Amino acid sequence: MEIVPEKVLVTREIPEAGLRPLEDFDVTVLFERPPERGELLEAAQRVDGVLSTLTEKIDAEFMNAAGDNLKVVANMAVGYDNVDLHAANERGVVVTNTPDVLDETTADTAFMLLLAAARRLGEGERIVRAGRWEAWGPKMLLGPDVWGKKLGILGFGRIGQAVARRARGFDMEILYAGRSPKEEAEKEFGARYLELDDLLQECDFLSIHTPLTEETTHLIDAEELERMKPEAVLVNTSRGPVVNEAALAEALAEKRIFAAGLDVYEEEPEVHPKLLELENVVLAPHIGSASFETRDKMAAMAGEDLRAVLRGEQPKNPVNQ
Ligand code: NAP
Repeated sequence: MEIVPEKVLVTREIPEAGLRPLEDFDVTVLFERPPERGELLEAAQRVDGVLSTLTEKIDAEFMNAAGDNLKVVANMAVGYDNVDLHAANERGVVVTNTPDVLDETTADTAFMLLLAAARRLGEGERIVRAGRWEAWGPKMLLGPDVWGKKLGILGFGRIGQAVARRARGFDMEILYAGRSPKEEAEKEFGARYLELDDLLQECDFLSIHTPLTEETTHLIDAEELERMKPEAVLVNTSRGPVVNEAALAEALAEKRIFAAGLDVYEEEPEVHPKLLELENVVLAPHIGSASFETRDKMAAMAGEDLRAVLRGEQPKNPVNQ
């Protein structure tokens, strides 16, 4: 009897390392760009497994389009807010993610934004490129020191702690807020646990590393921004909706905080128009984990977990069941 290979949908072009584990399957790779919703639903028909990225909404409608064959959604990201876990559980679909391998790279991105926002790199670059730089200036582009300051980390998990490791090299004091104190990490980093309101009042830099959930949506809103110091810098590399972008734009425009560094936005790839006009915000296009090495590892991890489920084996990184 002829063996028909399982159908696998890969929703975006991904590094080769992610396709290698899928060689035995009937694989369709969609585009470099995010697929339109209609294209995605059409491509989902009768697939057994999906390797998705954060630009695709993998919800009940998608799973219905795929039908009963669907066994696994391997999301090539550590965050899985784009996948409806409830719908997956109802249908017995295994969902996997790619934790750990992107911690250091994403922490590098957070620190890059922190330094760039504090020391006004974006503004300086725009001046140089526009031919507006006239001379070294004793009062030109001054910003707050980073070293020796207080870093507040909201969400002291894998990436939050990788940021703390970097901050130690800058002699920073580590404060953190989250759902619960973390004794081991406190010992490792000499970190102090605070309620969010106290953290906001005390820190010079705020770096956000929670997942996006119902509870964390607009966790940083106008009221929270109001508590921050006027010289404070906010960095968000988690997910856009954790911060109320309109409230942030207003706080930055009115100089109620000094600056911000953002990698993520509420309606990607849209950016709040007010943010685009401001000098005191550094805007990155969601490149938190975008290193050659890390994207290879994320792709391989997702591909291997997808294969494991289709082969009836235990995946390494399930997020449900
Ligand atoms: P993690 O290890 O699970 O850490 C998340 C931390 O957030 C945990 O300490 C968790 O507390 C805390 N947390 C959860 N809900 C909270 C709440 N309601 N209030 C306060 N704290 C809360 O996750 P991770 O691997 O560090 O990744 C964090 C997030 O970063 C991901 O979910 C993803 O969205 C984002 N990310 C973005 C990029 C990018 O490209 N910009 C790259 C990678 C990841 P507990 O310890 O109590 O659970």
